[in-house]
Amino acid sequence: MNVRMWLHPATQRNLKTLVGDGVAIVGPDIGAMACGETGPGRMAEPDAIFDAIVAALAPPVSGSLKGRHILVTAGPTAEALDPVRVLTNRSSGKQGYAIAAALARLGAKVTLVSGPTALATPEGVTRVNVETALEMGAACRASLPADAAVCVAAVSDWRPDQVFGIKMKKGPGGPPSLTLVENPDILADLSASGPGRPHLVVGFAAETDNLEANARAKLARKGCDWILGNDVSAEAVMGGDENEILLVRDGGVERWERMSKIDVAARLAREIAKVLGDAAA
Ligand code: C5P
Repeated sequence: MNVRMWLHPATQRNLKTLVGDGVAIVGPDIGAMACGETGPGRMAEPDAIFDAIVAALAPPVSGSLKGRHILVTAGPTAEALDPVRVLTNRSSGKQGYAIAAALARLGAKVTLVSGPTALATPEGVTRVNVETALEMGAACRASLPADAAVCVAAVSDWRPDQVFGIKMKKGPGGPPSLTLVENPDILADLSASGPGRPHLVVGFAAETDNLEANARAKLARKGCDWILGNDVSAEAVMGGDENEILLVRDGGVERWERMSKIDVAARLAREIAKVLGDAAA
C-alpha cells in the first residue's frame, strides 16, 4: 500500500474497526515503495507474515498469565528541539510490540507505553502513546502496580536542555549549539527496590561489541532481574524482523539461536509465565 493510502483517515478508521473486531494485523513495514515514496505502507516480509500466523495459532502454554498486569515499553523516544525538530533513533518498536502481543496472548493485561511508531496496537493490549523519555517515565509510573515490567524501548539517553517555542532559524551566527541533559533511566527506576517494585523487571541491552560483558554489567548497574542482550552490529537487527538474544539472569547466560522477533517474544513470554505462574493458582 502507498504511504498516503495507509495513513489516510479512512484506512486508519477501517483498521481500528478490524482491530476492535479481534483481527490480528501484520505490518506494514516502513521504507521505500515501488511508487517512489517512502514511509509506512510496504507489505511485511513473507517470513514475518508466516511467523505472525504461526504465533497467533500457537496453543497457549501452561502457566497462563491470566490476572497478571505487565508493563511493556517499546519504540524510540523523540526529544523536541523546537516545534518541528526532534532527537530520536532508529528503533522500529517491532520487538516490544511483539512482546506485548505475546504476553496478551497468554492472558496478561498488558500496558504498552510506546514512543512514536507506525505499528498497529496488538490485540488486547492497552497502548499509551508518549513522545519523550520524561513522558515515558511518567506513563510507566502511572501504570503501576504491575507484576512485571519489560523495558524494550530505545529511550534517548539525553534531551536538549531547552526546547525552543518557535522554529529555530538559520542566521548569520551559524548553526546553534545544543546542550544535552541526561534523561532519567526508566528501567533502573522500575528496578529500584521498594513496595511498588514489579516482581520481575526485564531490560534489553542493544550492544555492538562485548555483548556478554556489557549485558552482565548492565544487569548489575540497572538492578533489573533479567537482561536480554542483542547484538545490533548484526545485519538489520534495528528495524529488521530477526534478533539474536543472550539472556543473562541469576548469574547465568543462555544463548538463543537467531530467530524472528515474534519467536523471541513468544519465548520470553513463556519464560515470564514460568516465573509469574497463574495468578488464580
Ligand atoms: O543504558 P541502555 O540504554 O543501553 O539500557 C538499555 C535498557 O534500559 C533497555 O531495557 C531500555 O529500555 C532501558 N532504558 C530505560 N530508560 C533510559 C535508558 C534505557 O528504560 N533512559
